[in-house]
Amino acid sequence: MKTVIVGNGIVALTCALRLAQRGGEVALVGDPARAGSATLAAAAMLNSFAELGPGALATELDHAKLALSREATRRWRELGAEISKVGGLTALGHGTGTYVLDAGDGTFEMITRQLAEAGEPHAIVEAAEVPGYAPARRVARAVRIDGEGWLDPSRVVAALERVLGAAPGVTLIAGIAARLRTAHGALAGVELEGGTVIEGDRYLLANGASVSALLDRSALGVRVQRVRYGIGSTLELRAPVAHTACLRGQGVYSVPRGEHVVIGSTNLVVDAPTADPTAADRIRAAAVAQLDARLADAPLVREHVGWRPIGEDAYPLIGSTSIANLAIASGTRRDGFHLAPVIAAHLADVLTGGPGDPRFALFGPERIAR
Ligand SMILES: Cc1cc2nc3c(=O)[nH]c(=O)nc-3n(C[C@H](O)[C@H](O)[C@H](O)COP(=O)(O)OP(=O)(O)OC[C@H]3O[C@@H](n4cnc5c(N)ncnc54)[C@H](O)[C@@H]3O)c2cc1C
Repeated sequence: MKTVIVGNGIVALTCALRLAQRGGEVALVGDPARAGSATLAAAAMLNSFAELGPGALATELDHAKLALSREATRRWRELGAEISKVGGLTALGHGTGTYVLDAGDGTFEMITRQLAEAGEPHAIVEAAEVPGYAPARRVARAVRIDGEGWLDPSRVVAALERVLGAAPGVTLIAGIAARLRTAHGALAGVELEGGTVIEGDRYLLANGASVSALLDRSALGVRVQRVRYGIGSTLELRAPVAHTACLRGQGVYSVPRGEHVVIGSTNLVVDAPTADPTAADRIRAAAVAQLDARLADAPLVREHVGWRPIGEDAYPLIGSTSIANLAIASGTRRDGFHLAPVIAAHLADVLTGGPGDPRFALFGPERIAR
């Protein structure tokens, strides 16, 4: 059996790895320019409880997602050891220790309550104890979540590509999928810009925020939730003092990345890719005001811009579709980097005829947005 995967972000790469490990052929079609790569723009925080905002855990989907997210952290440890044989996760830029600052809007109490109920190691600390925290006006306290951390996405992508490049049965194809071809009610091939057609037995669309554009061009008639572009930036700065922990304020965060610090982020939700020229200034102003005033003069190393895939109800769109040999993995919005290992394990099982993880049943791509 041959699976054709469209995309080359964290979701496509991890799905390719897990499918290849089950035998069979895998062809991965990815834009070599990685236009709009959310994966490379991500701060790559591996957060579960720190992600919870006001109104979180209101629905069944929220609870399922939190459980999957906690499992994803465990699975990253296994995946890191597999793809980086020397050094494991540490060689991929991993660190832990996430501080959520008390913004006074009730989120802090909600997060600490959830942490306590789940038995997740954490401590409430005074602001003065938070490493790297130095805004002009401090909040009083923060909660340190010991097990929540981050990775360096470019190192992870490089490691996955290295492993896939050497894996038997895997072909990495540099190209852009122009449209999907059908025959007798099933998918029959992916036509690339330039006309080459890549054929397989089953297909997985994991091309992030551009999934709806590809479906539109292909006129398949599947009613998948529309995915929009959440244009987001992160800034990688030379750190004025070493940052050793992830700090989370209101709509702004900082994450250590070697000698640099990554601050983020913005989210401009639109129907087609566009520029957000003031994003960098907005992020830096928020980070200076809320996290560390010394970041005002920190030299910019680069601005990363990526397109978050955002479905109509803002939950992931993962699983098979009413076209029997077509599956979709998109809609991961702001935590798809973290969730990738659980998505990959589930889809590798589903695509090889297994039942998959039942918690993903709620996230089918053709569900009606509530
Ligand atoms: C600023 C920002 C910060 C974020 N921070 C975090 C974080 O801290 N933690 C976290 O877990 N998540 C974070 N996210 C979200 C996370 O990055 C995404 O959920 C995740 O990376 C989505 O992965 P993906 O593989 O689906 O999409 P992408 O990474 O966007 O990959 C899709 C790839 O497919 C390619 N492609 C598109 N169309 C085609 C085509 N037709 N043919 C071939 N190739 C195509 C694209 O060029 C791209 O390289 C962040 C996102 C942004 C933008």
